[in-house]
Formats: sequence, structure tokens, C-alpha cells
Amino acid sequence: MKFVVKKEKVEFILPNRGILKISSEPLKILNKFRQIDISNREAGGVLLGRFVLDSDNIVIDKVTSPQSKDRRSRFAFKKMDSYHQHRITQEWTETGGKINYIGEWHSHPEINPNPSSLDIQEWKRKSKEDVYDNSFLIFIIVGIESISAWTVTKVDQSIIKLDVVHGKEKTE
Ligand SMILES: [Zn+2]
Repeated sequence: MKFVVKKEKVEFILPNRGILKISSEPLKILNKFRQIDISNREAGGVLLGRFVLDSDNIVIDKVTSPQSKDRRSRFAFKKMDSYHQHRITQEWTETGGKINYIGEWHSHPEINPNPSSLDIQEWKRKSKEDVYDNSFLIFIIVGIESISAWTVTKVDQSIIKLDVVHGKEKTE
């Protein structure tokens, strides 16, 4: 089976009506880890981004890729490598606090991805316990044909699936 992925921009509507945009560089990385082949293992990493001044918009500028100590299988990804935390600190320091840790991503071997019960448990835990500069964390799942995003609030861990702004990524 062959899947064709349109390389267009991907944007979502945040619960506060701001726009979440994935820049082209991180989008290329996410697309690279789509589990199109049966041998492809799950991948994941952190989302690094900016809160756009005088707006509710957020831009994902960078994402980290799987590292050697991360645990990867066809149906699971566990971020174990210290590289991800190192990159968060490095980006934050180098940009004088402009680039922040804003969430996490991982891939699924599903056409249109949905979080597993383990994902939901993990997302709630992270949004509650992680240190971050916003009222919610963003979680992205990269499916075979589509990329989906959710927010989970710090205050009560409520999960909202974000609507896509620009059409479908799928092409026939
Ligand atoms: Zn998952």
C-alpha cells in the first residue's frame, strides 16, 4: 500500500481560538516518522515552540527525534533518553526564554490516530506534573495519513481534540 502525504502547512485551532502552527522544519521531521511500512516503529519526542506576542497563537519551531536510549516498538514509544530534556534547556537558554517546552509528540501505526488509554493516562500525568509556561500542554500523534493534536489543561487535565485549519493532509 502506498500513502501520499501532501507537504502543506498544518494548523490547528486552540481552545482559546488561537492558532497552533507547525513550522516546515519540524513538520518534515514528523512526516519522516509516519509508520507507513509494517517495519516502522513508533517514534516521539518533545515539542519546542513560541508563544506569539499579542496573540493566543503558538508556533512549533522544533521537535526532537527518537534517540538511542528511547524505547521503541511497533506499538509503543517511551522517551527515556536525557537528550530531550537537554534540548529543552538548550533551546530555552539560547533564545533567552523565547523557545519553550510546549508538549510532546509520538507516532501511531493508525491511518487517523487516536490516543490509547495509556497515552491519556500519561498526558494527564505530564500536564499535571511537568514544568511549563502555559495553562496547557499540547500532544500530537502522527498517524499514517493524518496528524492530530490535543491540549490537556494544567488545572484539571481536561483533554480537547483540536480542529484542523487547513483541509486534509491526505491525497488520493
Ligand atoms: Zn500512543
